[in-house]
Amino acid sequence: IINFETATFKEFENIPNYDMVATSRIFKNFTDYMVDHDQMNFRFVTKGSGPTVTVTSPFLKKSTTCISLVSNDYLNFTQHPAVKEAAIEGIMRYGTGAGASPLIGGHHEYHVMLEDKLSAFFHRPKGSSLVFTTGYTANSATLLSLLKADDCAIVDMEVHASVYEGLLKTNTKRFPHNSMIHLERALLETKDKFKTRLVVVDGVYSQNGDLAKLNEIIDLVKQHGAYLMVDDAHGIGVLGENGRGAIELYNALHKVDIIAGTLSKALGHIGGFIIASPELINYLRYQSRQQVFSSTSTPASFGLIKALELIDEEPHWRKQLANNVAYFRSGLIDLGIDVGDSKSPIIPIKIGDPHRTAAVAKLLLQAGVYANCIVYPGVAKKDARIRTSLMATHTHAHLDYVLNVLQDIGGKISLKKIR
Ligand code: PMP
Repeated sequence: IINFETATFKEFENIPNYDMVATSRIFKNFTDYMVDHDQMNFRFVTKGSGPTVTVTSPFLKKSTTCISLVSNDYLNFTQHPAVKEAAIEGIMRYGTGAGASPLIGGHHEYHVMLEDKLSAFFHRPKGSSLVFTTGYTANSATLLSLLKADDCAIVDMEVHASVYEGLLKTNTKRFPHNSMIHLERALLETKDKFKTRLVVVDGVYSQNGDLAKLNEIIDLVKQHGAYLMVDDAHGIGVLGENGRGAIELYNALHKVDIIAGTLSKALGHIGGFIIASPELINYLRYQSRQQVFSSTSTPASFGLIKALELIDEEPHWRKQLANNVAYFRSGLIDLGIDVGDSKSPIIPIKIGDPHRTAAVAKLLLQAGVYANCIVYPGVAKKDARIRTSLMATHTHAHLDYVLNVLQDIGGKISLKKIR
């Protein structure tokens, strides 16, 4: 019933007439087929975390050191000696695990220290932040506990999957990416029909690297009496004069009702957080099922307290990253590559056709450049791209190497996006 040649992962979600075991068996045949036909370009194992990593992949004869363009460890804080030392200190002081979910014994001194640090980082009073196990759960658990059957979320179509997961119990209106006309229409259509209307956008969009039009969004949300949540997972630590994210770039740190962030990208660890009014945080602390039934971060998150300090103490990482972004982006444009409207360390190489994109990703890897090939359903069917993600510790020599490889590949396969 499934043509492996054209199948996508999505088709395996609900295969009619097959139970879960049979579905898994067919899916296994599909993934084997993909590997055999050189189309499985994301089942990789990596070693290391930095501008270069060792990659093991079906596409490589042996494990190979590659330039990594896949990590969200933007400032490379996962390898910062002071962050590592603090993480080790956390473990030595408190042990290796939280031991329980926050509401029933797993809310420790180090969680309080981290939450206080996060509140201060965003210039909010104590009690304005709450830590979650991941950025994913910060979004999904928060939305699930705040929005009910008589509320409505109004979301940019390209918000992260974790936002969508949080909308299962509420009404949802999606507006086309960054279209202010459609956002306004959605705000007008929903007026007086719901108790709460919450607009949800990403600060930086994870597949295009472009930014939300926060100025206009804030004005519209205010004008129409709604609330605003911004997931700035990719902006925090990276964008803005002081690394407070896309929200700082727009001078909007105090104009957003709920800020969601992750601790797994620029801050170099794992976990997520919400910044909001102390009343709203208090509500989530008791009402979010994740806070009640699931443990949050481990004592190694002590390293995060240092990472947050380093955002202020060592701004040169942010500047080095911005320099790399400008350098690489202009190099790609010089090669005639469509990089969309990227304004962050995520820079797409937009090729469009999924087969050509997969072929480019494979050639890149074989030349020692590891970058992700993103196809449907990650992006629209004709919008496949190589997603590159830069770090502060990439050197211009790394980036020149990648640009040269792309130029060579461009001689064999067109890198142009055909619209
Ligand atoms: N929001 C966005 C926009 C993301 O890109 C991601 C990570 N892919 C998340 C949230 C989830 O973050 P985490 O990896 O910490 O769960």
